[in-house]
Amino acid sequence: MELRPLGNTGLNISSVGFGASPLGSVFGPVSEDDAVASVREAFRRGINFFDTSPYYGGTLSEKMLGKGLKALGVPRNEYVVSTKCGRYKEGFDFSAERVTRSIDESLERLQLDYVDILQCHDIEFGSLDQIVNETIPALQKLKEAGKIRFIGITGLPLGIFTYVLDRVPSGTVDVILSYCHYSINDSTLVDLLPYLKSKSVGIISASPLAMGLLTENGPPEWHPASPELKSACQAAAAYCKDKGKSITKLAVQYSLSNKDISTVLVGMNSVGQVEENVTAALELATFGKDQETLAEVEAILSPVKNQTWPSGIQQG
Ligand code: NAD
Repeated sequence: MELRPLGNTGLNISSVGFGASPLGSVFGPVSEDDAVASVREAFRRGINFFDTSPYYGGTLSEKMLGKGLKALGVPRNEYVVSTKCGRYKEGFDFSAERVTRSIDESLERLQLDYVDILQCHDIEFGSLDQIVNETIPALQKLKEAGKIRFIGITGLPLGIFTYVLDRVPSGTVDVILSYCHYSINDSTLVDLLPYLKSKSVGIISASPLAMGLLTENGPPEWHPASPELKSACQAAAAYCKDKGKSITKLAVQYSLSNKDISTVLVGMNSVGQVEENVTAALELATFGKDQETLAEVEAILSPVKNQTWPSGIQQG
């Protein structure tokens, strides 16, 4: 598995990252055995980056990931773990007091002494000025205390990243995590890449399958896309199936192709999905993208290209 540098962190992480939200059963029930086996298979096949949050499955994802990582039985410096703070089943709280308490709770669930990256989770739901003036300074203290190594921010609207990065001293925010903006149906992250590179932040792009839109089974009930976007993606998936092609492989390969992105986080909850996604990465390196099918799928998706959905609160 290809390793890519993550901004200025000095970390080299696998181009396919393991998104652990499905381990919180948010895309359907997952047994503990399947969760642990998925993590083991991912590591065995060269994935060294694992992302979770206390929000996923109301802490279940962190607990499952912790069990899976423990079962690896390898030295702690052989894998990179990111979790998040500020978003919980109970709601949002980006106060210094809550995020400081949050990391101790996460470390206990993950059975770890430190996480590599702690990210403020979906900051568009909080006050961005609080993120700049209170939350990130609290995370800097956690860095000094050795509980986290690097600081990140995540969310859907791309404007949140420029807002925060323009207001914090250079080097304060180490990574950003954007989701659903570098997949076949929505590639708007591409316009922000030069800015992000100029700020030397590591770029994590999540949800190449658009949180299930670009799968044969389709998205979960809670998916926020419009009916129009959902049906266009299902038409694209059906087209690939009829042609004997895999929409997920096409989508994972599309997202992996831009090397300015350090890692593509794919949510996985079975050994089979790990195998398929790692194979997609290896085949991309050997054969390149399936340009013909990609062009056909892009044509099907063109009426909904770059369509997204609202997320967050009015700032100001
Ligand atoms: P995704 O686009 O990766 O899709 C995940 C869905 O696709 C799941 O149902 C999964 O089981 C399924 N899947 C994966 N591989 C498959 C395969 N080969 N064949 C068929 N189905 C397959 O969406 P995601 O899980 O939401 O995103 C990936 C990760 O990124 C998350 O787990 C999380 O760690 C992170 N993320 C973070 C944020 C945030 O911070 N706000 C938002 C979204 C995602």
